[in-house]
Amino acid sequence: MPPDSLPHPGLDQARAILQHTFGHADFRGLQAPVIGDVLAGRHAIAVLPTGGGKSLCYQIPSLIRGGVGLVVSPLIALMSDQVQALKQAGVAAAKLDSDISLDERSATWRTIDEGKLDLLYLSPEGLMQPSMLERLSRVPLALIAIDEAHCVSQWGHDFRPEYRALGRLAEVFPDVPRLAVTATADARTRADIRNELRLGDAQEYVASFARPELALSAIRKQGKGRDQVVALVEARRGRSGVIYAGSREGTEQLAERLSQSGVPAVAYHAGLDKALRNQRLDAFLKADEAVMVATIAFGMGVDKPDVRYVIHADPPASIEAYWQEVGRAGRDGDPAEGITLYDSSDLAWAFRRLDSREVSDEVKQTQGRKVRQLYAMLDGTGCRPAAVRRYFGEEGVEPCGVCDLCLNPPASVDATEAARKALSAVHRLGGRFGRGRVIDHLLARTKQVQDWEVALSTWGIGKDSHESEWRGLIDALLFEGLLREDPNDGRPLLQLGEPDKVKAVYRGELQVSVALRAIQAKPARAARKGSATGLEVAAGNRLLYDALRAWRRDQAAELSVPPYVIFHDRTLAEIAAARPGTLTALGQCGGVGDAKLERYGPQVLKIVRDA
Ligand code: ADP
Ligand code: ZN
Repeated sequence: MPPDSLPHPGLDQARAILQHTFGHADFRGLQAPVIGDVLAGRHAIAVLPTGGGKSLCYQIPSLIRGGVGLVVSPLIALMSDQVQALKQAGVAAAKLDSDISLDERSATWRTIDEGKLDLLYLSPEGLMQPSMLERLSRVPLALIAIDEAHCVSQWGHDFRPEYRALGRLAEVFPDVPRLAVTATADARTRADIRNELRLGDAQEYVASFARPELALSAIRKQGKGRDQVVALVEARRGRSGVIYAGSREGTEQLAERLSQSGVPAVAYHAGLDKALRNQRLDAFLKADEAVMVATIAFGMGVDKPDVRYVIHADPPASIEAYWQEVGRAGRDGDPAEGITLYDSSDLAWAFRRLDSREVSDEVKQTQGRKVRQLYAMLDGTGCRPAAVRRYFGEEGVEPCGVCDLCLNPPASVDATEAARKALSAVHRLGGRFGRGRVIDHLLARTKQVQDWEVALSTWGIGKDSHESEWRGLIDALLFEGLLREDPNDGRPLLQLGEPDKVKAVYRGELQVSVALRAIQAKPARAARKGSATGLEVAAGNRLLYDALRAWRRDQAAELSVPPYVIFHDRTLAEIAAARPGTLTALGQCGGVGDAKLERYGPQVLKIVRDA
């Protein structure tokens, strides 16, 4: 990786724009080297965690290099949000998508032809239309940024075939630097991004995946786990959250239950009318307290910075999906939580769904392994973010210190002997029974038992443990891939899992340890005080802070934009603490760029004076 300490004239200009236009003091993480590469006209691949500031990596070079910066993004919501925020910062940005009226469209083309547009947002389908490519080939381009670039890879967790077409950009615009950005891509996905998007020997920038502000936890479900979700949300009133559920019906039911207990919750899924969906998204983005109960249709591009918690009422599909979804909490860098509910029937369901997909066996195997790795992390005993970061290939990862497993390390026991018993029983029973029946066999309490079963060497060898311990152990063996469940039309049968692993357990080469955690572990941070809004505002600044928020709410309503597009909570907190008396002093606060200083400065100073 090229050292970012090298003097780079373009970078000084980039830093000036960062300060004046966006109001940030300095670059974060890998922003500077990525921007340096693009400014020098080179392709690059940047994997930066959610909230890591990916968008500035292409926004700033678009402002410096001549021509329009094209941004390819899969979701209209994401584009709208970025375009609004850019306009607030005084940047000429527009999007062209199916929602745009003809008038607006021609106005946008006019600004492009006049050389006045800095950034143009497009969907992959929109960009790759022959007429669009033809028109764009006649205007100078600053760069092409491909957002959510992992969508190009079938090894990624969110393959979108329409992304494949973007490879052609290499031929159509051979001289324009292309920047692929994503929040999650393992090594294989990164290789795919490079090949599919024909990025040649582009430098790869992979940031640390650490999200120190996120406190993660996972809880095994009791029953369907819905009561647990309601209790978790009720304990977090006054904050905004996202709840992911596995089905459309599930989102509707949960939203209904939450509404009944007074929580401002609505459902969001692809089956809803588009206008209703947009209206709900809009209300969610604008509200101070709002709970969105959604399927994963609600996702990419939901850029509300003050989401304080993400609850998975049903587990995500993979560790990549998990990291992206919990990553939607705490984007403003303030403390936030990610809580996942799971059990082994979710695992079985994930495999059933995978089985029904029309993909090659190779892809099924890869995806199946991803599912296992997710459950092994959820049910594991070591620091959660550390497990995720190792999964993404990071080395030398330290425990996070704030996840449930760091705060309350679960006592674990060596269960290798018990695991052997369970595996033997499944083997002797020929994989023909479900878990309840297998446990009955281990405990020698099968009803109307027949002679052949009593004659098996495994009959009653589990009497030294309780039924609930066997259930917990069988779940752990399923999560580890030592057992698997044949769906058998909803009456799952227990069978032996990966043969090599099973053998290793018998030979004593693989130890099985299980957490002695109580079924209902306490989620991390839940009991912490003083983080009701996630942001610490000193009592003495509270009045001013609230006054600033009220002003922001009115402004936002007037302009019909989400409040954070005007100023982030954090910026308001900084202003409330600094109490600036002059525009210059106000400009020193993080998040106050020149355009906002000019537009809002006098009003903000008046509020500070009057408070
Ligand atoms: P993502 O990588 O998730 O797309 P964004 O580009 O939306 O992240 O940035 C996340 C947040 O971090 C935004 O609020 C943005 O203003 C802020 N941010 C980005 N770069 C910096 C920086 N260098 N200093 C301070 N804040 C930054
Ligand atoms: Zn931890």
